[in-house]
Amino acid sequence: MAMSSFEYRDGELYAEDIPLAQIAEQYGTPTYVYSHAAFIEAYRAFDNAFARHPHLVCYSVKANSNIAILEMLARLGSGFDIVSGGELARVLKAGGDPERVVFSGVGKQRWELTMALEAGIGCFNVESEAEMTLLASIAVSKNVVAPISIRVNPDVDARTHPYIATGLQENKFGVDRTTASELYHRATATDGLRIVGIDCHIGSQLTELGPIIDAMERVLELVDELGASGIVLEHIDLGGGLGVRYHDEDPLHVDTYAGAILQTLGNRPQKLLFEPGRFIAAEAGVLLSQVQLVKRNGERHFAVVDAAMNDLMRPSLYNAWQKVSEVNPGGGSRQNYSVVGPVCETGDFLARDRELCLAAGDLITIHTAGAYGFVMSSNYNTRGRPAEILVSRDRSFCIRKRETIEDLLALESPLPADLY
Ligand SMILES: *Cc1c(COP(=O)(O)O)cnc(C)c1O
Repeated sequence: MAMSSFEYRDGELYAEDIPLAQIAEQYGTPTYVYSHAAFIEAYRAFDNAFARHPHLVCYSVKANSNIAILEMLARLGSGFDIVSGGELARVLKAGGDPERVVFSGVGKQRWELTMALEAGIGCFNVESEAEMTLLASIAVSKNVVAPISIRVNPDVDARTHPYIATGLQENKFGVDRTTASELYHRATATDGLRIVGIDCHIGSQLTELGPIIDAMERVLELVDELGASGIVLEHIDLGGGLGVRYHDEDPLHVDTYAGAILQTLGNRPQKLLFEPGRFIAAEAGVLLSQVQLVKRNGERHFAVVDAAMNDLMRPSLYNAWQKVSEVNPGGGSRQNYSVVGPVCETGDFLARDRELCLAAGDLITIHTAGAYGFVMSSNYNTRGRPAEILVSRDRSFCIRKRETIEDLLALESPLPADLY
């Protein structure tokens, strides 16, 4: 992305116009720090790339679901892709327009379908026959009609990390083409359902056009076939997945992505829907952390920091590489560090083999942490989750408080005495 909201000025790392050291001073560490401008720039870049065709960006809430961020995107006109009733509650609280909400997920429960029907969401992305049957019966019982797409699994290899590839037959997502076609025909004869679109999502952190366009072509074949049999779709939802640069990836420019998609679409009139998450949020956030101590085991240098795998799971979960920088780089000698947290797991690392100059008390940032960062955090080792701070120019806002030990213990209850 053209703009970087986390840059050095006079040898100090800033978030927009505020030194990160000042954020650490004011709010403590570890803390997620987001840039307002970076979110807006990424959203607009995506939206503008499709300006010449009717479309709707449905931000994928699971990438970063803080209500303040959802509200910011809702005000820009964004729709939302949700995967749970909890995410729907967040969108509604943030003032999101329910008609611009699409609901994905292989295991939507009765209460979630009911809640979404009551809210009047724009589309259910149906992922199985069982879901379609349940949704129709709830809709009939409430005397409403559920707008649906069928999520097609196009059986293409997205060539991304296996945990985030979703478009292969061996993955649990969507239904195969033949089943999709059957479900569409069945839906036309089922009370409580109205067919509005078709949906696919082949995976995340996609950096190649090939699989994206292959999948789209397979979806379009089905669109045309359905059209020929009288089932006319209003929209085509191509999911999310556009990748970003963490390290040395060569991600697609959003305009290249849009150009190829619009060309493949040809003169079909359907509105396009997209569900980008990572592209909007990843580069808009960093995790700010303080070095507790440095130590050496034999030849290995470790920087033990106050953030850990429970705060940022991607390195442990996917062996993901995220850039680490010193907030106030000094002039000392550099060592090859493993940056690790205090959690009792060998898998608790944030970065390995990084040339850094670090001492106890220094601040670091882990970059590209705005997506799948805070949302994947946990309380493992009874650690409170980090605060979330949003910076806009020279102002900062706490959009989620740091969890206290009290918060962590609040939901647990002792057993009755007679059980001992
Ligand atoms: C996770 C997910 C997305 C968002 O993926 P990104 O890679 O963050 O863009 C979109 N749609 C569905 C159905 C998803 O599960």
